[in-house]
Amino acid sequence: MNFIPYSKQVIEDDDLSNFIETLKSDFLTTGLKVNEFEREIYEISNAKYCVSVSNGTAALHLSALALLCEGDRVLTTPNSFIATANSILYAKATPVFVDICEDGSIDLDMCEDILKKDTSIKAIFAVSFSGKILDKKRLKHLKNTYNIKILEDNAHTMGAKLTYSDISIFSFHPVKHITTGEGGAVVTNDKALYEKIKMLRNHGQDDKHQMLDLGFNYRLSDISSTLGLSQIKKLYSFIDKRQSIAKRYDKAFQNTIVKPLYSFTKTSLYHLYVVRIDFSKLDISKDEVIKKMREKKIGVQVHYKPINKQPYYKSLGYGDEETPMMDRYSKECLSIPCYPTLSEDEQQYVVNSLLEVLNA
Ligand SMILES: *Cc1c(COP(=O)(O)O)cnc(C)c1O
Repeated sequence: MNFIPYSKQVIEDDDLSNFIETLKSDFLTTGLKVNEFEREIYEISNAKYCVSVSNGTAALHLSALALLCEGDRVLTTPNSFIATANSILYAKATPVFVDICEDGSIDLDMCEDILKKDTSIKAIFAVSFSGKILDKKRLKHLKNTYNIKILEDNAHTMGAKLTYSDISIFSFHPVKHITTGEGGAVVTNDKALYEKIKMLRNHGQDDKHQMLDLGFNYRLSDISSTLGLSQIKKLYSFIDKRQSIAKRYDKAFQNTIVKPLYSFTKTSLYHLYVVRIDFSKLDISKDEVIKKMREKKIGVQVHYKPINKQPYYKSLGYGDEETPMMDRYSKECLSIPCYPTLSEDEQQYVVNSLLEVLNA
């Protein structure tokens, strides 16, 4: 049997044929495929504007520069890929880590408690963790009541609709819902934000090649956009497959010590299928389980270790925040394989292997 990773891309014949066509064309970058891909993305997200970029981190970087001012304090989650919090630092602003709730996403009640007391908070950078779409009503309430900016890191939720947030970003890394190799996008309904981000993507130049700001080369190529165009057609079928896997896993783990992070919900697009296991009650450690699963050719991963406890963040003085939910969660969480081409036999093999390793 081949190795079963926690996630991987699906590349099919249609992806290949379109790709070759673009390679043979006049434009490998800055051509029409980029605009076509951007249109697909803003339509799917119900947004007015899209700027494609070279990866999800670039999307976060430019969004942070467009939304934040130096010194702003920004509420964010310890339960994300490091890039979410890093983007706040790129803008010389200050991340403030807030604990998570049961489903692994930032605790918006706690955000509100902080916003009531602390008027120096200018924004929330939230993540729709694992694919579960954030509570839009709560975000709207926080935005309107406290006059703050909201960025949704939707790297786990390609296809999430933009409603009240200022910006939503996506990633097209191969483990995400759709891929362009490396790639990312920013969507917004705000024309000024759109124009600023578009300018920063292209060295800080406007359409007349006047350099107005210190920008970057964060463009997505036509080659990548072509892959994105064939991939995005399959987004909903990929999501369907991930949701079916989640349903089947939920059922398979009923009455076992393996607890799904949340029970099946259509509001999750299942970028990750996360389970919680209370290792304090077992004779085996999480590291040993990861190692034994690897021996069985199954990749399981931890999403995530708390960002605020990373060595670099500790060197900045972070790490001692009161985040009991996150602390417990990060000890218990494991992401098990979930991707569209994972067969039913493979899913059963993952379930059996995990239960076997835990009982060993
Ligand atoms: C993948 C990911 C990113 C970064 O995206 P890249 O395209 O790899 O740069 C940012 N935030 C979250 C939550 C992610 O999962």
